[in-house]
Amino acid sequence: MKTPIRVAVTGPAGNIGYSLLFRIASGAMFGADQPVILQLLERNNPDSQKAVKGVMMELDDCAFPLLAGVVNSSDPKAAFRDADVALLVGARPRSKGMERADLLDANAAIFVEQGRALDESASRDVKVLVVGNPCNTNAWIAMKSAPSLPAENFTSMLRLDQNRLMAQIAAKSGKTVNDIVHPAVWGNHSPAMVPDLEHAQICGRPALEGIDRAWYEETLIPTVAKRGSAIIEARGASSAASAASAAIDHIRDWVLGSGDRWVTMGVPSDGSYGVPEGLVFGFPCVTKNGKYEIVKGLELSDFIRARMQKSIAELESERDHVAKLLAK
Ligand code: NDP
Repeated sequence: MKTPIRVAVTGPAGNIGYSLLFRIASGAMFGADQPVILQLLERNNPDSQKAVKGVMMELDDCAFPLLAGVVNSSDPKAAFRDADVALLVGARPRSKGMERADLLDANAAIFVEQGRALDESASRDVKVLVVGNPCNTNAWIAMKSAPSLPAENFTSMLRLDQNRLMAQIAAKSGKTVNDIVHPAVWGNHSPAMVPDLEHAQICGRPALEGIDRAWYEETLIPTVAKRGSAIIEARGASSAASAASAAIDHIRDWVLGSGDRWVTMGVPSDGSYGVPEGLVFGFPCVTKNGKYEIVKGLELSDFIRARMQKSIAELESERDHVAKLLAK
């Protein structure tokens, strides 16, 4: 029997948590022979704790052969103890009348605390994925709050945006997602994201040979960028199962390898493509042996570069806003 992988999950009482935990426990994240221990972090209030208890009862009732243990805590240091993977899903949602600056502040406070706790108690190789929004800036602040961990351990989720892009191209071209390689989404997980088809191929041919450029620029890009709002409109609640599925994809590929496929990950920039060093930015990556590498040397069109600048400016302004909290 392999040693279980310790997976910390924050926000287990939330909607994404409810879709995510059962898939991790069933083997979807690390494979059918890899046991896991779930380490849950939920807020210390009676309603949340009651809801987590219910989730844990259901996990018990699934009798998952790979689930080697479940613990719950409201203390980040306890929940992150020796964690090999940390999925930071729980975040403060935007409430009515809340300004964007207030949302950044509220979440920055959460991610400073969680970054410090990871620094103190997680495995030195912990792989961190931030899902809770604003996920790129939350990942940046957690990374900055964990100076003894390698910066590259901190990532944010843009995989849902890549998956949405692939699904839209498959529908438009009449092919399947398996026929599509090298789509990418640069930048921030926000409407300023940059879905990029310029290097993508469908059945081995350049995607933009078969897809009209005007449709790509005027329909596909806004469709992907606003897909989250369209889901809320349709189901009356934000994406949960698809977000959980993208989190599974992100960690599975990081741990088990992506082969030749590109996977979009929000990772601290190494200065590639003119993205300021340290900003957590969506890049096409390849993964191998538990490490990721940004795909280098791509020629970017003026169209893509101009849009990337908007994402850079947005992320710099978020970073500058929350940076003051680190000093406290
Ligand atoms: P829910 O509102 O269903 O759950 C949120 C979870 O966060 C709950 O467990 C909640 O705990 C917890 N939480 C709320 N406030 C705080 C706080 N102050 N401190 C710590 N935990 C808190 O949200 P979802 O599960 O649907 O979404 C979670 C996050 O994921 C959101 O930020 C959402 O925007 C983001 N998301 C990101 C995507 C991406 O592609 N990166 C895609 C889709 C969503 P409690 O029960 O105590 O309130």
